[in-house]
Amino acid sequence: MVYNFNAGPSHLPDEVTEEAKKGLSNFSNTGLSILEIGHRTPAFSDVIEEARQLMRDLMHLDSDHEVLFLHGGATTQFMQVPMNLLDTNETMAIAHTGVWSQKAIQEAECFGKVQITGSSESENFNFIPKGFTIPSDAKYFHLTTNNTIYGTEWHDIPVSPIPVVADMSSDILSCHRDFNSFALIYAGAQKNAGAAGATIVVVDKKILGTIKRAIPPIMDYRDHIKAKSVLNTPPVFAIYISMLTLRWLKKQGGVKGVEPLNREKARLLYDALDNSKHFKGTAKREDRSFMNVSFVAKEPAVEKAFLDFAAQKNIYGIKGHRKVGGFRASLYNAVSLDNVKYLVKVLQEFESTYH
Ligand SMILES: *Cc1c(COP(=O)(O)O)cnc(C)c1O
Repeated sequence: MVYNFNAGPSHLPDEVTEEAKKGLSNFSNTGLSILEIGHRTPAFSDVIEEARQLMRDLMHLDSDHEVLFLHGGATTQFMQVPMNLLDTNETMAIAHTGVWSQKAIQEAECFGKVQITGSSESENFNFIPKGFTIPSDAKYFHLTTNNTIYGTEWHDIPVSPIPVVADMSSDILSCHRDFNSFALIYAGAQKNAGAAGATIVVVDKKILGTIKRAIPPIMDYRDHIKAKSVLNTPPVFAIYISMLTLRWLKKQGGVKGVEPLNREKARLLYDALDNSKHFKGTAKREDRSFMNVSFVAKEPAVEKAFLDFAAQKNIYGIKGHRKVGGFRASLYNAVSLDNVKYLVKVLQEFESTYH
């Protein structure tokens, strides 16, 4: 058995991969593989409708919020959001908390003006900016709820006088939030909500249609809403995996069911790091992410030794992002408490044997 702590694509519940195997050979007793069926057939409509309804239920969405399954990853949303919401003479405000917000800034600058409100760049993004003012005359405020690379997370979403747009790629459905309070939420599915290839967008219809720019139909959220995410061939297989993952999440009791477990998983690992001789966490304590635990070795030589040790123990995906170095353990919904206990045990075993 391999213990997967990869940041993305990431571990999926065994139940999901098992069910997907069946779908690959004989999907829903059609005698066909899910990879072969038409995207406008009733069989696939059932899949995407169930996925959409599960999102609605799990997030308790109101009727103004629409759920879309699109192509292109969260990265495409860095472009598609301002293309739909930001006119040339308008300004979007953004909290700058890392590589992903940097990309959101760059892409938004292709469409309108960008004002950075709050940044943690001065300390290599190891904290969440606080005490800044969101300008009430900006079109919307953008934040990255969880900073996958640095291991920081917004535990309180700032109260905003303007619509809030959130990149929730790495913590969507991991903790309770008032999802209806967001004008737009987007997430690549491959971290907490399925496999690579599908991008989930939750958008409040009321914020659309407020700009003068012509939007290419394939980029226009309104066209996708009208076409129920089947404007062109959608990522059928990835949506199927998302549907299975969301079904699994619902069985765990939904967000309410997994949130305490996610907290417990993170607490176990942070406690081990705080009591460690060789390692330390990189994020400021109050802003520590429950999803991505970033840590470094206090001495460089230890780093390689622990990577090798962990690999021998069948631990996969804990090498840190090159921007931070060291290690990162991703504890998404599908990573069990037992697997985190195992990681902590391996860490402690390493500490007691390494000289
Ligand atoms: C992974 C990630 C992205 C990029 O997602 P893609 O699906 O690869 O485009 C963007 N934002 C955050 C917060 C991420 O974790």
